[in-house]
Amino acid sequence: MDFKIDDGILERHVRIILNAYYSDVFETSEYYNIRCNVCGDSKKDKYKKRGFILKANDPWVYFCHNCNVSTSVTSWMKEHYSTNYKNMMIDVMRNKPAGEERTYNFKKKDCVVDRDEKQDTKHFKPITKFKACVDYCESRKIPYDVYSKWRYATGGVFSGRIIITFVKPNGKVYYYQGRSFDNKAGVKYLSRFGDHKVTIYNYYCVDADKPVPVLEGPIDCAFVENSIAVTGLKLKGDILDKFKKIYFLLDNDESANKKALKLLKEKKYVFNWQKFLKDHKCKGVKDVNDFILKNNEGITHFTWELIEPYFTNSIGDKIYFPVKTKK
Ligand SMILES: [Zn+2]
Repeated sequence: MDFKIDDGILERHVRIILNAYYSDVFETSEYYNIRCNVCGDSKKDKYKKRGFILKANDPWVYFCHNCNVSTSVTSWMKEHYSTNYKNMMIDVMRNKPAGEERTYNFKKKDCVVDRDEKQDTKHFKPITKFKACVDYCESRKIPYDVYSKWRYATGGVFSGRIIITFVKPNGKVYYYQGRSFDNKAGVKYLSRFGDHKVTIYNYYCVDADKPVPVLEGPIDCAFVENSIAVTGLKLKGDILDKFKKIYFLLDNDESANKKALKLLKEKKYVFNWQKFLKDHKCKGVKDVNDFILKNNEGITHFTWELIEPYFTNSIGDKIYFPVKTKK
């Protein structure tokens, strides 16, 4: 079969696999990093993760620094997760124009995506009962009325993670994300299983007619007026359309800069961290929460008035978003 699988479909099914079989996933906009299932990864260190799903490659590549396996992600899926692979192909066929469908005959089989979500959620406990979690949230200056709605998972695949609940104004939870909170190395999270229409934090809680800053992480939303977070996933085209004025306030790092350059080319507004940090005499800041912790002016919240002057949609400002060129 020689055709390209749509990135959106591929990502969805890769995530189903990651959620089902990998308890420790490190994700950036460019790759997923997991423990290699092909070689089993390090025998000595059970935390070592040397398998990578490289999303920046076209088509996506599965690569391991330990056993040096290098193959397309679809071949990796076909070989190791054949049921998931077949379900993905069903999705692919459904998305094909009518007429081509008949040549393929896949039957949907039961797989992990049909598992009972209660097996996860029964372990979710009120976060305020766990002192270490409360201390962590307090140390990051997350307001109590925000983190008190979160949970802590005492068992199951989300075990040991803070569960950030995505809540509607009526209190109903429509999505959640489990985040490990004791690692220094980077952000690790595990999202709710399966397919969900809206995976955006604060989606139902902001005023859609006012300016809406779009952030990368839900924790940062606690510090920015009327903001939403898109949780690292690629966005379906029209999901943000209900917001009249959107402004991207990405992290202050290279992969965010890459994204920012793309957005600038599309005439979208992005936040100029360089100018902002210069005006506020602050250095080495990687995201909003980091700024809240490091600034010397006692700023605890980003109001629209504070950040508005630093958004730009001019391609001339691309010098403020440096990206090392690939060799
Ligand atoms: Zn390997």
